Amino acid sequence: MSLAKRRGFVFQSSEIYGGLNGCWDYGPLGVELLRNIKEQWWQTMTFREDVEGVDAAILMHPTVWKASGHVENFTDPMVDCKECKARFRADQIEDAMCGSPAYKGRKAHKCQAEGKFTEARQFNLMFKTFVGPVEDSGSVVFLRPETAQGIFVNFLNVQSSSRQKIPFGIAQIGKAFRNEINTKNFLFRTREFEQMEMQFFVKPGTDVEWFGYWKEQRMNWFRGLGMQADRLQFHQHEPDKLAHYAKDAYDIEYSFPFGWGEIEGIHNRAAWDLSRHEEFSGKSLKFFDEQTKEKYTPFVIETSAGASRSFMAFLVDAYVEEEAPTADGKMELRTVMKFHPKLAPTKAAIFPLVNRDGMPEIARNIEADLRSQMRVFYDDSGAVGRRYRRQDEVGTPFCITVDSQTLQDQSVTVRERDSMRQERIVSGRLLAYLKERL
Ligand code: ATP
Repeated sequence: MSLAKRRGFVFQSSEIYGGLNGCWDYGPLGVELLRNIKEQWWQTMTFREDVEGVDAAILMHPTVWKASGHVENFTDPMVDCKECKARFRADQIEDAMCGSPAYKGRKAHKCQAEGKFTEARQFNLMFKTFVGPVEDSGSVVFLRPETAQGIFVNFLNVQSSSRQKIPFGIAQIGKAFRNEINTKNFLFRTREFEQMEMQFFVKPGTDVEWFGYWKEQRMNWFRGLGMQADRLQFHQHEPDKLAHYAKDAYDIEYSFPFGWGEIEGIHNRAAWDLSRHEEFSGKSLKFFDEQTKEKYTPFVIETSAGASRSFMAFLVDAYVEEEAPTADGKMELRTVMKFHPKLAPTKAAIFPLVNRDGMPEIARNIEADLRSQMRVFYDDSGAVGRRYRRQDEVGTPFCITVDSQTLQDQSVTVRERDSMRQERIVSGRLLAYLKERL
């Protein structure tokens, strides 16, 4: 968290006013990393024939949330401590700490055993607001708690406009809001976050096969972007813990410093969503198969990832502290973010070895050539070793140094972040060299 703040990945929201609990701002490097994660997801999920994208509004007709079950079921049980007024999720007391400074380090379940807690009440996690100038019950709308419903209500619009046939999917990336009772663990549980969801519509009876397919695809996506395989696992929901809409569900979990946590859910939602929207809207959302002349309500396989939670997992996964040799052969501790090159916020840094002999001019020319193609960073201050360390700390995969040999043969050194190996490359070949490795 300290590195994330110091290097401009993540800042507390409204920090100068003391912050707003459960909200975070992405800084200059954070926004690049987040965009790269979303871009990789978008490419993987929609650069295929059978998936279309949408970008639905955050505010939707209030009946959507009745049909989806959120008004009735999107609740967490909440208890209050009568003494210190702290609020807890009733199903998470085991891990929680007492909120009173007078009992520092005391476990909340002790307070519960002493009868300090109220009875559990159900608390709906949706944020409410009003449409128009009159704040009455007729104008209440909700900030969407998930992006999925914008996909379900557009199922036929997308299907007919893009002339897709079952099976096909609809993908969306967007903000979601949940008034979580307790926010915690940095970006893991926040009140405003981003989701990357895809709903895949299939013929009933083929759902089990497609569920298996998407489960594997999604795990491979995290692994393919360099996430360490032994820090990833599937967790199947027990039949008695399945959400009201689900026929089968697996979480992809990541091993965070505080334990395993879900980063993506893969759900077989069967016909729940489309049939509920048919019931509440009175409009048919059935698919008519021209070839077989069958009409049916498709089943849905959902892949629901948090962009912000994935961001945190990629951040944690990349963070390494290791011994590294300095220029004079001693060993020192370096912090390096071993981001996959596709995710790294900055792709290459360019250094003149010294600020004379024409080296800065050559380095600036190289920077200008590369800048239109990728995010690069120019640095001419301090010893080159220190410049390397600064780039390691933000995960820049390549550092390019212009030195005295460059003046003779136009070659530069390219140093790779993880191996720290250096190669000499003729500057005219740099772009092709970097593109291939990125
Ligand atoms: P949890 O049990 O952790 O509250 P959930 O099962 O309610 O999560 P889903 O509704 O399946 O989560 O949401 C899909 C994804 O959205 C999650 O895997 C997670 O990555 C992300 N997500 C959900 N809630 C939050 C949140 N409060 N903050 C950040 N990301 C979230």
